[in-house]
Amino acid sequence: MGTVTEIYTYLRLLFSRYGLPTIGDSTLFSFNSPEGACENCKGLGEKLVIDENSIFNWDKSITQGGIRHSEFRSGSRRTNIIIASNLFDVHKPLKDFSRQDLDKLLYSGRLVMSDKTQGFIQKYSFEGVVTGIMRRRADRRGLSSSTLGRDNKFFKLEHCDVCQGSRLNKRARAVLINNKNIVELVNMELDDLYEFFKDIKHPLAQPIVAKMTEMIESLKEIGLGYLSLSRSVRTLSGGESQRVKMARQLGCDLIEMLYILDEPTIGLHPRDINQMITLLMKIRDKGNSVLVVEHDSEVIKAADCVIDIGPLAGEKGGKVMFIGKPNDLKQNKESLTGRYLSNKRHSGKRPSRFKLGEEAHPESSNVDSGVVATLFPRITTEVLNITNASTNNLKNISVDIPTGVLTCITGVAGSGKSSLIFDCFLEQHPQAVVIDQSPIGAMNRGNPATYTGVFDRIRKTFSHATGKNIGLFSFNSIGACEKCQGLGFREIDMHFLSSVTLICSECEGRRYKKEVLGYLYQGKSIADVLEMTISEAVKFFSDDEIVRRLGILKSVGLDYLELGQSLDTLSGGEAQRVKLASELHKKGNIYVLDEPTTGLHMADIERL
Ligand SMILES: [Zn+2]
Ligand SMILES: [Zn+2]
Repeated sequence: MGTVTEIYTYLRLLFSRYGLPTIGDSTLFSFNSPEGACENCKGLGEKLVIDENSIFNWDKSITQGGIRHSEFRSGSRRTNIIIASNLFDVHKPLKDFSRQDLDKLLYSGRLVMSDKTQGFIQKYSFEGVVTGIMRRRADRRGLSSSTLGRDNKFFKLEHCDVCQGSRLNKRARAVLINNKNIVELVNMELDDLYEFFKDIKHPLAQPIVAKMTEMIESLKEIGLGYLSLSRSVRTLSGGESQRVKMARQLGCDLIEMLYILDEPTIGLHPRDINQMITLLMKIRDKGNSVLVVEHDSEVIKAADCVIDIGPLAGEKGGKVMFIGKPNDLKQNKESLTGRYLSNKRHSGKRPSRFKLGEEAHPESSNVDSGVVATLFPRITTEVLNITNASTNNLKNISVDIPTGVLTCITGVAGSGKSSLIFDCFLEQHPQAVVIDQSPIGAMNRGNPATYTGVFDRIRKTFSHATGKNIGLFSFNSIGACEKCQGLGFREIDMHFLSSVTLICSECEGRRYKKEVLGYLYQGKSIADVLEMTISEAVKFFSDDEIVRRLGILKSVGLDYLELGQSLDTLSGGEAQRVKLASELHKKGNIYVLDEPTTGLHMADIERL
């Protein structure tokens, strides 16, 4: 982060001018320059080392395929060379090899050998497994990513043991300011670094310190004071890196720019959201335009102008509902967003207090317009414990989580919520079901009809109505368009470019043979049905089971999806709700959700 924010550039300057002993100019503190970089790791801070447990199957011998790399399969050319070389006992399990032999097998340089057993002289060469891989890596013509991937899985990154990962050489690390070297400063949290700079008053250092302090202030303001300069930007969350970029924009003096931000509040605690809004306003006040795509009500209220698109999702959306000031949006009865902003949807009382073992008090609650539900606060006597959690920043804490109720883990960004739940809790309670926004794994070739299992019943319905073989109504079977095998499109490999997808010219994307499209149920073909939305299908079919299963997707607000829509086209929030829907009928599980409201509109949040 130090390099991205340019704070590190100033820090190097500070050490070269003000640090003791004086060694020279600021490039001597740069791990990107040969004069500053650690000699051992060339300034990377880490080294690739072979993972012997990964590349060796210790129980097997070389001839049995004990070297897991695909070039050393038994019978392969390179294995035959090892056998012919007579350098190793190729029938001995690798676990019985001496350290010396293992090193020779991995790191030996190229040895040219000759063989006369065939009656003529044949020359060949042997080189160590790692030596060969490294020689290939150094080849400047480059490697295909599949070769790199195949090699990489046998390596692990380790901290460089010479510089302890600090990337700088000994000379640079010996220079001190107030008893600290540059490595110690970049490892400090920004909050602490800010305090450290307060004590530096020397006129030589002052202007540089002032510049850094200003930058750190803007990072602190947007709630990133817990990060350190050494934190790799690759490990920042999406929200964190977006804010780092914004803080950098604040530091530059460009005006009349147009900034577009996509949901900048994702993953932020309410306190951090206010800081984010302040930052957006500062960027605006410098003379820029700021355009934000956002669901958060605080951000909407803070805007000078709101454009509301709706009214609902999918087919039922796509219209401009409102353009104007947030206060006027509140008066707008057509807009769902407006109704939420004016809190009209929250008139009902909710049971909100909860204590372990508390008596149940039935309470009436208006949870959805027109639906009056009676909710009983749940009673719980049992807990799931997390004991001695100390991953990342956690201070060896133990936490009891009550069962049978909804528990919310909260706190500002970086406070340790995810470490507590996704590292410690899941480790101690592996039976818990995690529902996240990742794509629906093995199902991504499927669609809502196949995922809910209603497609079988729909095909049966068609088969009954038409008297035809049920297989004809499946796009994976005899009914499939022969040209595209029922995909509806064809992928054309463009060799060096990314492949191109074309709608199938035979079935025009409808996936079935022409003949099948002629078999109708209540005036619709099977392809027509797959193009129906879930709410249309619920009205169209009278089969109770079809209606019930699709009703579950409807209840999580996905009634606008088409039955045949490929699941890999769903957004993260939609995928999460499909998963939730498929869990709704089960009983007695522990469910863990990670920021389930990310990317959702307030109406969707209430439904969630
Ligand atoms: Zn090093
Ligand atoms: Zn086709």
